[in-house]
Amino acid sequence: MSEIVDLEKIKRCDIVQVAVSLGLPVKSNKTNCFNSSAHSNGDRTPSLSFDLETNRFKCFGCNISGDVIDLVATYKSVNFKSAVEYLGGQDTLKKLPVKKINNPVDGKTYSEIYELFFQTINNGLEVSDRAYKYCIEKRGFRDSILGGFVKDIEGLDHYNRIMNVVRNRYSKNDIRLSGIDAFFKYAHDNIPFLVYPFYDHGKIVYLIARRIDSNDHPKKLNLKGISPPLFNIDTLSRLEKGSDLYITEGIEDALILYTEACVDVIGVMGVNCIPNNIADLCKDFNVILAFDNDKAGREAKNVVSMLFLSSGQTVEEFVLPDGLDATDYHLKGGSFNGI
Ligand SMILES: [Zn+2]
Repeated sequence: MSEIVDLEKIKRCDIVQVAVSLGLPVKSNKTNCFNSSAHSNGDRTPSLSFDLETNRFKCFGCNISGDVIDLVATYKSVNFKSAVEYLGGQDTLKKLPVKKINNPVDGKTYSEIYELFFQTINNGLEVSDRAYKYCIEKRGFRDSILGGFVKDIEGLDHYNRIMNVVRNRYSKNDIRLSGIDAFFKYAHDNIPFLVYPFYDHGKIVYLIARRIDSNDHPKKLNLKGISPPLFNIDTLSRLEKGSDLYITEGIEDALILYTEACVDVIGVMGVNCIPNNIADLCKDFNVILAFDNDKAGREAKNVVSMLFLSSGQTVEEFVLPDGLDATDYHLKGGSFNGI
């Protein structure tokens, strides 16, 4: 496939028309579920319905769901790439209009609020003893990244002290729009958490929180209403043309690769947060994909590979031994020498 694939456009193919093009009998935006092994009666009363608002499908019998690409991939039992090719070849499919967002928010707008919030967590570069233990023992971080790439908030009182400083400087409305209120969910339950900053041109443009008391849901919190940019994007402006550039999924793997393997790495924050221009951003570098072999990693890898492929750029792949993720591999004493 040599022409450029516009994934956003493909995702806007009218899902009902796609279903019809696949030969599914659609009536009143419903059809008989094709996941036949899950329906002993062959799903005679249609359980799979199409949501015209979100352009997604869901079966209320067996719970399979997804967007147009998932529909084609599941129905035809093909991979992501083939499903995209199928949809790209169906010129006659109606495209839904691009959704207008009333208030397009970019984290850069609220950079000053994130800076103040992060700097106020503590004045020096220290983290609490508890966070120190977690970062070093559980995550395998080096202490050189503590303070700059990660700080921690110990509970509700600590959170309130920080937010009082922020509230003194910024209006209620700006704070709400910055999405930073999202972290109140942890603070309210007195859950201690790490805060990871995302830098762009040296400024903090995003923050993600990660609880350290357990792995209970939600493990992480994003800023409310703002989608995360690429992590460690600043590394691109420091890289020489032709250098190796690793791409991984998640902050923690990116930090491990960055500090332990001393490689240049950027992180994508999940399959829905991959910028369409990622291939263009990385066009001067020798891109190596280092994704975990879990669901999030595989999904993100599929989309990233597709975006590079469709702009005619080749990528290499680094596979960690035994299907481990970067953190586990590192904690088990695995070496990154030679990657
Ligand atoms: Zn079903």
